[in-house]
Amino acid sequence: MLTAQRCLAVFGDPLKMETHFMTVFDVPADLEIGFIPKKIYCNKQMVGPLTQAFRNLVRTGEIKYLKSWDGCFNIRKKRGSSSPSLHSWGLAIDINAAWNGFGKPPNLRPQFVKCFTNAGFDWGGDWTKPDGMHFQLKDI
Ligand SMILES: [Zn+2]
Repeated sequence: MLTAQRCLAVFGDPLKMETHFMTVFDVPADLEIGFIPKKIYCNKQMVGPLTQAFRNLVRTGEIKYLKSWDGCFNIRKKRGSSSPSLHSWGLAIDINAAWNGFGKPPNLRPQFVKCFTNAGFDWGGDWTKPDGMHFQLKDI
């Protein structure tokens, strides 16, 4: 699993305002459906996998279960930890947060989750302390 240590080594410290690894992802017009944002400020390495995940959601019809977009880039620590969250490098997204609270049983369809995991993401809902709203890049 992708770690904060590895992100620090590859991208540097977001608290020092190092943002060379970030981009404004202009989501393709044919994917601007439902709650998919038009533009996403994220890590450059997220563009390919996120595009694929959105395409999977649209192709499978799972897009109708995307109820909210709850953010990507956010310099902060992991909940209940002193280690930085991968959100600090724009390498994670949160969705359907209102129904998938941290530490609560996740509430996403397996088919929906697969749209992301098949596109190169790990799902927080699989963790010992589940974070069902959270998807992060598997590797960089
Ligand atoms: Zn998250």
